[in-house]
Amino acid sequence: MSEVKKILRKAEDSVEISPEEALILLKLTGKNFIALQKVADQICFEKKNNLVTFVINRNINFTNICYQGCKFCSFSVSNKNKESFLKTIDEIREDVVEAKNAECSEVCIQGGINPELDFDYYIQILKTVKEVDLDIHTHAFSPQEVFHMAKIYETTINNVLKDLKNAGLDSMPGTAAEILVDGIRKVICPNKITTSQWIDVIKSAHKLGIPTTSTMMYGHIEELQDRIEHLEVLRNIQKETSGFTEFVPLPFVSENPLLSKLTEFPLKPSYGMADLKLFAVARIFFNNNINNIQCSWVKLGPKFAQVSLNYGVNDFSGTLMEENITKTAGGGFGEYLAPDEMITIIKAAGKRPVQRDTLYKLLKFY
Ligand code: SF4
Repeated sequence: MSEVKKILRKAEDSVEISPEEALILLKLTGKNFIALQKVADQICFEKKNNLVTFVINRNINFTNICYQGCKFCSFSVSNKNKESFLKTIDEIREDVVEAKNAECSEVCIQGGINPELDFDYYIQILKTVKEVDLDIHTHAFSPQEVFHMAKIYETTINNVLKDLKNAGLDSMPGTAAEILVDGIRKVICPNKITTSQWIDVIKSAHKLGIPTTSTMMYGHIEELQDRIEHLEVLRNIQKETSGFTEFVPLPFVSENPLLSKLTEFPLKPSYGMADLKLFAVARIFFNNNINNIQCSWVKLGPKFAQVSLNYGVNDFSGTLMEENITKTAGGGFGEYLAPDEMITIIKAAGKRPVQRDTLYKLLKFY
């Protein structure tokens, strides 16, 4: 039996595959690529019963002022820039009311690392959401933001997380992960938290009963080996805490970032087949650990996101309503996808659409 067949057989038998085996799968082409698709799709089908979920949510980006200087970022500006904004608590309240009126079950709140903000601002955001509607799930603040709060508040990560939880934080986005390999982070986001600091914030959150998502931004300067290292970091965390609700692979959208000007680190964009292989490998690699693989329609576009539903992906992400980060990076797929459109796209892929909440409780079948 060929090596590829042996690895895929292991996957079919729900035996954990190693990072080395995952790397072999990431390189497949031709008939082996089709074989990988079949196995990932079958595992997903058995696990998820042919259901594809989505969440009705609204993004709220409260500020784009940030001085972290991540080389891939087109969203952040200085406070002198005429495009800069910092939402007041009243403006955030209006956004939450809008989300409530649109029957969102979740608000997803993130912003730049803005030195003008004090810790109380973050607390007030959380309290405001719950004042508008106790039942709206507050999915907020990246590990980078939590790390920053601990610095300005001069306390521990744990204390920050406890205060945030008491003020209404329900779960956190596992963003700011980019690629969890320090050699890559030093180039693309030299001022961001290190891999071990990211792990520390995430594990602390999980241990306090704050679930998070997990993400990976790929298709910039990293090698396939770095992607695998990243997946291994996430799998190890999940084995310890079970706190990840999902894995979201995020292809790098690169219209105008500084990163493309770093000639010593040429960009290696990910094209369609590489994206699909990553989704399928993630499904197989996380088979016994992370149950949900999400596609980002905002980055992939709804058409390609639909294709991904045959490669191990079981979640179509959220309606969003407001999306600044991909838009400023040149992403052209809009800011809002209505639930009806999502339902049509999912049905056309031969799957059954289901509205879910943030923690994957199934709410409504279509
Ligand atoms: S990615 Fe986030 S932390 Fe980095 S510069 Fe942009 S807004 Fe700031």
